[in-house]
Amino acid sequence: MKADILLRKDQVNTKEGNKDVQLLKDKLWQRRTTAEITIMGENKVREENSILKEIRRIETREKEVIQALERNNGTTWEEDELVYMEGKIYVPNNKKVKEEILKENNDSVDVGHPGQQRMLELLKRNYWWPGLKEDVKRYVQGCFKCQQNKVLHQRKAGKLHPLEIPQEPW
Ligand SMILES: [Zn+2]
Repeated sequence: MKADILLRKDQVNTKEGNKDVQLLKDKLWQRRTTAEITIMGENKVREENSILKEIRRIETREKEVIQALERNNGTTWEEDELVYMEGKIYVPNNKKVKEEILKENNDSVDVGHPGQQRMLELLKRNYWWPGLKEDVKRYVQGCFKCQQNKVLHQRKAGKLHPLEIPQEPW
């Protein structure tokens, strides 16, 4: 099934010139959309769309993004008013939008405060921005429920805690 899709894509994109670039683009695009479908329910798609709308409205771009676009080597491109960095949607430096995306990938019911590693994985499926990792770390550290979950997991992972041994007299 998967091989079949790739094969058909190969056959379609036989335009001369930047065939390789086009193929890479397709591959990255495909990976992104597949990931999106995997993690998103119908409600999520709707929320996602409003975030995308906001991203489209913001026109500022970091220097490294502009440079990557200028290099035009197939890993960064603009499409439908969005910038893609290696297939991920570039999120401009806007506090409100970033917070919204962070919240979406941490607090929403279907995500359920996954902690730093998992949250980063989820986010990276769809988005990219400079300092994403640090922002996730900061967000999780400031999230009471994430910290609570972390403590619970650590307790479960540890062996019998000495204090939990009942002090019953024989
Ligand atoms: Zn959390």
